[in-house]
Amino acid sequence: MECRVRFAPSPTGPLHIGGLRTALYNYLFAKKNGGKFIIRIEDTDSQRFVPGAEAYIMEALQWCGLKPDEGVSEGGPHAPYRQSERKAIYKQYADELLAKGMAYYAFDTADTLENLRREAESRGEAFAYNAQCRTKLQTSLALPAEEVQARIARGDAYVIRFKTPENRTVEMDDLIRGKMQVSTETLDDKVLYKSADGLPTYHLANIVDDHLMQITHVIRGEEWLPSLPLHYLLYEAFGWQDSRPAFAHLPLLLKPQGQGKLSKRDGDKFGFPVFPLVWHDPKSGEMSKGYREEGYFPEAVVNMLALVGWNPGTEQELFSLAELAEAFSLEKVSKAGARFNPEKARWFNAQYLRMRSDEALGKLILKDLQAKYGAMAASVATASTASKVPAGITESTAAEIAGLFKERVCFPAEITGWAAMLYVRPDTYQENGLKKFDKPEHREALRQVLGFMKQQSAGPWAGAGADMGVGRSAGVGSIMENDTLAFIREKAYPMGQVLSLFRLALTGNAQGPNVFPLVAFMGVDEAASRLNILLDN
Ligand code: GLU
Repeated sequence: MECRVRFAPSPTGPLHIGGLRTALYNYLFAKKNGGKFIIRIEDTDSQRFVPGAEAYIMEALQWCGLKPDEGVSEGGPHAPYRQSERKAIYKQYADELLAKGMAYYAFDTADTLENLRREAESRGEAFAYNAQCRTKLQTSLALPAEEVQARIARGDAYVIRFKTPENRTVEMDDLIRGKMQVSTETLDDKVLYKSADGLPTYHLANIVDDHLMQITHVIRGEEWLPSLPLHYLLYEAFGWQDSRPAFAHLPLLLKPQGQGKLSKRDGDKFGFPVFPLVWHDPKSGEMSKGYREEGYFPEAVVNMLALVGWNPGTEQELFSLAELAEAFSLEKVSKAGARFNPEKARWFNAQYLRMRSDEALGKLILKDLQAKYGAMAASVATASTASKVPAGITESTAAEIAGLFKERVCFPAEITGWAAMLYVRPDTYQENGLKKFDKPEHREALRQVLGFMKQQSAGPWAGAGADMGVGRSAGVGSIMENDTLAFIREKAYPMGQVLSLFRLALTGNAQGPNVFPLVAFMGVDEAASRLNILLDN
């Protein structure tokens, strides 16, 4: 039998990363088992419908590379895949349960139900619509048949509720949690269908569609576990228990600290996104951050999310989507909630950033660099190195800049931040650095080093382009580095101290990137100017 799984989001808002992980696990399970990954939009709750949410969900899946085999845009043998377009299908199933005596009409108004709820509350109880009250309220179990027909005929609003069997134990199986039992005495009679909008509720539509779409495995969030007994009972009521899908309820994504489900508020509080893409709430106008816009790579988000609640059973941490699909199994999904770790998310992004070529990263930051430093780059070119240096910032310059800083950052935009040291002279020096390294003997050593570098750049290094500065660091940095380090060693200057003072003069900071690629980038002339500003003071 072909394995068929579905991700069935309701378009009630942006997709939470917990929902994205559910989609991912469904996708991985389908790929691992050579099956189909289906997207079904569950939009029967018209009151909670949010415009733009469906498009957002689809864009988020696409960004992560989770391509559906069947779905709203893909079509497929069970189209349509949007429940609002399947409206005509569901009523007959509710009618079937009515005919079998497994469901009943209920005419109670919202006010009646609200009063019942309040009364129960005043007794310190929770109101449940169940076997105790269904024969006493305005239902087809309590009213005479003619009255029920008359009410329907005159257009009274009604709902169809499931008649939960009494005194039964529902035995269920979950691929992650194992066997479970629930007494039907703890369940209430859920609404399956509402005449007011002619739409089924989630429970009915979900079961009918999973059946019609021949879903073999339902993989969904733990929040749906309380619905499982009802879903088992519905499969049984329809006589579909033999083709009932297997169920797997995924552990919750927990807050970085402490207990509880990861919420949007945690994201706001700790400064990390809980949504894959930026979301502008159409009602409140509120903006929520997205991983994509914060500079995360989709591969990093996918890799990170896969490991929140699942482990491959090995030490391996970096997985492509294809590798994840190869390694994935529900047996290795944990029962316990999985704590979300925003630090780790950044770590993953740093790994994927480093895997990108300098050229690819350069392209990502080119515009940003041009906007920030384009004018400065042009004036450096004309002032210090004349026609030899390309004006402005080109793609290859951007690639070079990416190469200089990619080991030090988690996000592409941070590279643009680091690049400031290439174009802007420091206006202050780190105090601690000065205290530690600005000693007369180190100053003297640095003067000698500078003299050596100037001399070399006019001679042996010139051929390699070291005199040219901006845009020409590739290879030059290492020649410069080898020769200069040899010079420092020969003179027996204290290497660490001298280089720290060098860096302090160049960048304002004693710690940071290797100085030679920086000098190669900015040119020996510019480096000399910066060293002299410090040394002459
Ligand atoms: N529409 C439900 C949701 O929004 C789907 C639950 C399920 O997968 O059965 O999560």
